[in-house]
Amino acid sequence: MSAALAFDSRTSLYDRVRRVIPPMEWPAFADDVDAILRLKRARNAVILAHNYMTPEIFHCVADITGDSLALAREAQTVRAEIIVVAGVHFMAETAKMLNPGKTVLIPDLQAGCSLASSITAEDVRLLRQRYPGRPVITYVNTSAAVKAESDICCTSGNAKKIVESLGEPEVIMIPDKYLAANVARETGVKIISWEGACEVHERFTARQIRTLRAENPGVVVLAHPECPPDVVDEADFAGSTAAMSEYVQHRQPGRVVLITECSMADNVAVLHPKVDFVRPCNLCPHMKRISLSNIRASLENLQHEVTIDPAIAAGARQAVERMLNV
Ligand code: SF4
Repeated sequence: MSAALAFDSRTSLYDRVRRVIPPMEWPAFADDVDAILRLKRARNAVILAHNYMTPEIFHCVADITGDSLALAREAQTVRAEIIVVAGVHFMAETAKMLNPGKTVLIPDLQAGCSLASSITAEDVRLLRQRYPGRPVITYVNTSAAVKAESDICCTSGNAKKIVESLGEPEVIMIPDKYLAANVARETGVKIISWEGACEVHERFTARQIRTLRAENPGVVVLAHPECPPDVVDEADFAGSTAAMSEYVQHRQPGRVVLITECSMADNVAVLHPKVDFVRPCNLCPHMKRISLSNIRASLENLQHEVTIDPAIAAGARQAVERMLNV
């Protein structure tokens, strides 16, 4: 690419994120952005980026963006030979199980999740023994091995719908105790849960929301359903990251606060310059392991490939596909 073209593309890419990245910080990103765009073409690769990725990843190098459900759905339509997942390990596993013939890479193998690490496949088998006959609904924020032990998966965006679709008075929903409690209240279904929590959303408190309202009169509060129920009670609306994004898009509140991971507000703020975003910042240390430089290294060296035992992949795929068919 010529210097002039490179400059032009860098300038227009910077325009996408200038609301949240100061001009003096952009040169630190520009070379990696150029290299990643070049490598994607050379490798026939696409980048899937979760809503919690930082804006220079989300807006400048990603091909497909969204929440866990959107990424799982879109992963099925990918034509490229290589998929780089800018997200955490369970997302890369989901991409691999839906694309067994493709190479799926994650830039940092240590990018985990407090929910995914809270439960094992053996735990699910013990739950089934203890509560026979109850269907097992597993949040997508789990390993493939845990999904493979489950009847159906769910995301924060469709958990209510999935529970209702089963038509059972009592179900097992793992591993997020807060999501389970929030869905139980919404559906009236008795839910047996697990002692897992998202370390980002668990940190928000009802008192913090009341303080935010007092300090920012008129602010609209949107909360993620992984937050504790008393936090959800203080919010004006509770929904997945995709639902929060749609809320801002359609309602255009004057001032809003997103009670979720920090980068999400940055990514939505870029698209809605007329909305004033209040930003309490809880970062996910696992999501933040993914950077432009390790995405670049991932494409340069084809690292780190995500593989799944075929028997586990088949069981997990069935649970994910059941969800996608609801
Ligand atoms: S934000 Fe929470 S649920 Fe998402 S990856 Fe981080 S720890 Fe897991």
